[in-house]
Parts: sequence; C-alpha cells; structure tokens
Amino acid sequence: MRVVVVGGGVAGLVAARRLALRGAAVTLLERRERPGGRVARGQVAGTVVDTGAESFAVRGGTVRGLLTDLGLEADLVDPAGSAWVALGNRTVPLPAGGVLGIPASPLADDVRRVVDWPGALRAYADRLVPVLRVGRYDRLGPLVRGRMGQRVLERLVAPVVESVYGVDPDEVEVDAIAPQLNAAITATGSLSAAVLRLRSAAPAGSAVQGVRGGVARLVDALLDDLERFGVAVRTGQEVLGVHPEPHGPGFTVVTPGEDLETDAVVVAADGAAAFDLLRDAAPTVAELPRPRPAVSRSVVLAVDDARLDAAPRGSGVLRAPSFTGVRATALTHVTAKWAWVGAELPAGRHLLRLAYRGPDEVDPAAVRADASALTGLDLPEPTDRLDTVWVDSAPPLAPETRAIRAALDAAALPPRLAVTGSWRTGTGLASVVAGAEAAALALEPDLP
Ligand SMILES: Cc1cc2nc3c(=O)[nH]c(=O)nc-3n(C[C@H](O)[C@H](O)[C@H](O)COP(=O)(O)OP(=O)(O)OC[C@H]3O[C@@H](n4cnc5c(N)ncnc54)[C@H](O)[C@@H]3O)c2cc1C
Repeated sequence: MRVVVVGGGVAGLVAARRLALRGAAVTLLERRERPGGRVARGQVAGTVVDTGAESFAVRGGTVRGLLTDLGLEADLVDPAGSAWVALGNRTVPLPAGGVLGIPASPLADDVRRVVDWPGALRAYADRLVPVLRVGRYDRLGPLVRGRMGQRVLERLVAPVVESVYGVDPDEVEVDAIAPQLNAAITATGSLSAAVLRLRSAAPAGSAVQGVRGGVARLVDALLDDLERFGVAVRTGQEVLGVHPEPHGPGFTVVTPGEDLETDAVVVAADGAAAFDLLRDAAPTVAELPRPRPAVSRSVVLAVDDARLDAAPRGSGVLRAPSFTGVRATALTHVTAKWAWVGAELPAGRHLLRLAYRGPDEVDPAAVRADASALTGLDLPEPTDRLDTVWVDSAPPLAPETRAIRAALDAAALPPRLAVTGSWRTGTGLASVVAGAEAAALALEPDLP
C-alpha cells in the first residue's frame, strides 16, 4: 500500500515510521527544509540546545518506549532541581505534588510559603465544604477560586497554566486541560482530595525527562530509521491539496511540483494547514471558525556569572501575575536543569531561556532586566543570544480547536485517511507520539 504522510513534525515522522515498519511504501512531504517542526535546535555560546521541546512527559511510557526503540535509552536524563514562582514581593519554590499548581495538601509548609496562612486556611475550606453539584464548574479559574480561593489561583495555578499552556485559567475548560479532574472531584468530594487521587495514580519519579544532547536527537533518530526503512522523505515540499478520488479508493496529493497518486494519506500538518487540506475530505470541518493562533518567542541568553552556579532559582521560575514589571512569563535555567548542557560550557557560563507571549522583538536591555528580575541577580551583559518565534496555529485547548476536533471525530472521513498532530491529540510529545501511533494503527488493517 502506498501512503503519503503530510508534515514532518514528530507526529508525521512517527506515523511514517510505524507504517513503513508494517510494510507500507511511505512518502513523507515536509514544507520546510528541515523536518522536526516544533522539535528543533539552535546554537548559542557555541553549544547546541533545543529551541522547541526540551523534555517529554514520562506518563504512559510512550515516548520513552520510542526513544528506547530508537537506541537512545542510555541517553535519557532527569532534570535537576525544581521550579520556583515569582510573586509580587518574593520568589519561592513551587510546592511539590500538585496538579496544574492546585495543591493536594493546602496546609503543607511549601504551600503556605506561597499563599501564606490566610491563603492556606481558605484553601483548606475545600476539604470542609461539600461539593454541591456535580459538574458545577466548567472553567478552571472559577473552580479553583470557588474551592480554594484567589491566592491559590493567582499564586499557584495561574503561573503554571499560563506558562506551560499559554492560557488564562479563567478561560480554559476543566475537561480540556485536566480531563480526569471533574470525575475525581465527584468521587472524592473535594478539589484537594481529587488532586491527591490523581497524583497517587501517577508514577513515582520525574514527571518529565530529557535527552542528553537535546530532544532534537529524537528527530535525527527517526530520520535515520525512515532512511533504513526506505521512506522517501522530501523536504521543501508544501502540500497544497489532498483530494479523495471521486470514484473508488485512493487520493491525489497536490504539491507545487507534481500530483501524487496514493492509496492512503496521513495528514500530520499543524492545525491551520490541516484544516485547509481537509477541505475536500471533511468540508464541514474545514468551514468551522478557526482558532486564534498562539504566537510566542523564546530567547536563550548566554551569561557569564558564577553566582548562577548555585542555581538560585532551581530549574527556573514561573511568573505570577502579581510579579509586575517583567514581560517574560517564565525563565528556564537551562544549564542548571540539564547537567549535560552545563557540562558543555566553561565554569561560570550559563544559559537562561526566557519565554514571551507574542512575536514582538524584545530589546536587549529588557531581556537582561527580565532575566535579572527573575533570577534575583543583577546580571551582566549576555555574551550571546538566540531568538525563536513559534506559531501554534491551532492551540489544542482553544474552544475553536476543540469544536473542530469534535466535528472531525463525528465526520465520516474517507477510509484510509488519518489525521493526527498536536492540534488533534493534545500538546506535548507524549500526546503527539501516542496519537501518531494510533493514527498509523488505524490504517493498518489495510496493510499487506
Ligand atoms: C517553545 C516550545 C517548547 C515546547 N516544549 C515542550 C516540551 O518541553 N515537552 C513537550 O512534550 N512538548 C513541548 N512542546 C510542544 C511540542 O513541541 C509539540 O506538541 C510537538 O512537537 C508538535 O508536533 P506535531 O508533529 O504535531 O506538529 P509540528 O511540530 O508543528 O509539525 C507539523 C509539521 O507539518 C509541516 N507542515 C505544515 N503544513 C504543511 C504542508 N501543507 N505541507 C507539508 N508540510 C506541512 C510543518 O512545517 C511542520 O514541520 C513545545 C513547543 C514549543 C513551541
């Protein structure tokens, strides 16, 4: 069976590998010159670092299993240290053991250090006041505010949700960001007990891992496998259309250079491109309102300052809304978090990665001031800097993306057409890899 995979991000690469392993004749078409999508690398201070994804969630074991199959098991590494949160008047470690920043034990010392006694006592009321109506809260912000109070929302949940997912807790649906939370609340009778239940179900150890040399090695290893399995990887090839044959099975895949006839297609392009490509195969989906793209900028600075050797902010800092005067939403202390990066640089040299919302340039003085404020040190002029702008054309948590996803689930797609990628299966490599494997599996009954 001939299969064309559209898009060479991790979703497309994983689907192509799985299908080739099962004997399909696979062609992968990637718009850019380099596959990998939002898993990419760049150079700063003479060192190669991840500029997109830098870790993966260990839940489910899917990514770890893939990396093991690809021969990278010996290079899997745990991050060092944990994150801090910058509040209006102080910067403190984020409590351990929560879900989306929601604490399981509101009176614990590490929670009190962030929300103080009044905030902790207010949060503890969650244990005392019964949950009145099942499914009462559909947005995360009102749920947390109602059960645990404003301080927990502002100082713990907002920093995590805004920096990790780029969304406002007041706007995001509980079922979208934490699909098991509502059921756990109903089962346990409170929000904190629900968090405890979800945490107990999670495996012990680090929630995320990285790869020595960078997560971008996943892309190299996938490409090596694709070459070994005879997959034709064509870069610089933008797919313009995917047209199901009007009579009988098969598709025509249109590129600027040629039209490809194929038996099956996996659309693994990111959101907006996928919606365009589904115009023929799923017209109702393609016509739905588009989500607003989420644009972000990451800035990696190289700084020579031995005071950073002590990792004064652990693996990095998330900014609470009350920490004003700084535009960056988070700072990762790359050389502290990933020992392999630290080992590549001379003593006293550090890499700090700052995250910004929107594509706007950030002038050097402002970035340095943000890094200083978030680390609590008056940092010297950086010796190098690397900027990357990222566009997520269909943020998975946006209501419009969710509506398109639901319509796609309900649509009768032509047989032998699979659609995958983070907009469909959820942000993050754990969801993307599992979703791509499932998409390939869905085509497998047709394989020889
Ligand atoms: C700054 C940043 C940090 C992140 N950090 C993490 C992290 O630490 N851990 C984690 O798990 N996740 C992280 N993520 C998320 C993770 O990177 C993504 O969820 C994942 O890489 C998405 O993979 P994908 O294949 O679905 O999409 P993409 O990587 O976007 O790939 C889609 C591909 O399709 C191609 N394409 C689009 N249209 C066409 C067309 N018409 N024809 C041909 N090709 C086309 C694109 O060029 C692209 O290569 C991060 C993302 C960013 C931006």
